Amino acid sequence: MDFHCHLDLYPDAKQIYTEALKRTEFVWLVTTSPKAYAATSRVLPATQKIFISPGLHPEIADKKHGELEMLLSQMNACTGVGEVGLDNSARYSQHFELQTHIFKSVVENAARLGGRVLSIHSRAAASRVLDILDANPGFGTAVLHWFTDSPSLLRRAARSGCWFSVGPAMMESANGRKLAALMPLDRVVSESDGPFAKMRGINVMPWEALSVALRLAEVWNISKEETSAVLNSNGLRLITLLTDQYS
Ligand SMILES: [Zn+2]
Repeated sequence: MDFHCHLDLYPDAKQIYTEALKRTEFVWLVTTSPKAYAATSRVLPATQKIFISPGLHPEIADKKHGELEMLLSQMNACTGVGEVGLDNSARYSQHFELQTHIFKSVVENAARLGGRVLSIHSRAAASRVLDILDANPGFGTAVLHWFTDSPSLLRRAARSGCWFSVGPAMMESANGRKLAALMPLDRVVSESDGPFAKMRGINVMPWEALSVALRLAEVWNISKEETSAVLNSNGLRLITLLTDQYS
């Protein structure tokens, strides 16, 4: 299962899609803009296994903010939203206020619609992300993808009920392993974040997401089998939230 994948952005997306249908149980295909969501849904149709959601990636907020209204209306018909969020790292901080406006609008809309499952980017911005989520009870379920902020913010997110999606590339860094060790075991799912995430220079594939179990087992101090079982049962619960809870 892969709960955060930019499947449409692999160079050979159609082939990866066909292979993913065979080799995975579930892929959450997150898009980076409302127009990309519309185009991707035509080329790579949603199926029982491949869930596609509209998003507006904070890294391109300055270029795509004109599509915000389109995203809000796409949210009517889709129970998942992503990739959305905030990025306050040096490279993207000049548009942080614009990103905040977009993300707030999305979270408020999710609450108005009775709840949505959000796949959230929070690089150097987890505190602001959590402020916005906490101010909008009823927004649904937050899945913080590839969390890189501080341990104290991770604990705050866990207390707020957030889920976490973790991939093999995140577990390559000491900081990633330290954070994963602190996550609530019943709210962690696997992700690839491919093709952005790479291992030794090669794109992580959707069917490789679950290989994260091996590294999680080390930091959680339980067996690989137990870890896989935990990820599996968490994944099934999140699929239910995505496909039943808010529809
Ligand atoms: Zn992503």
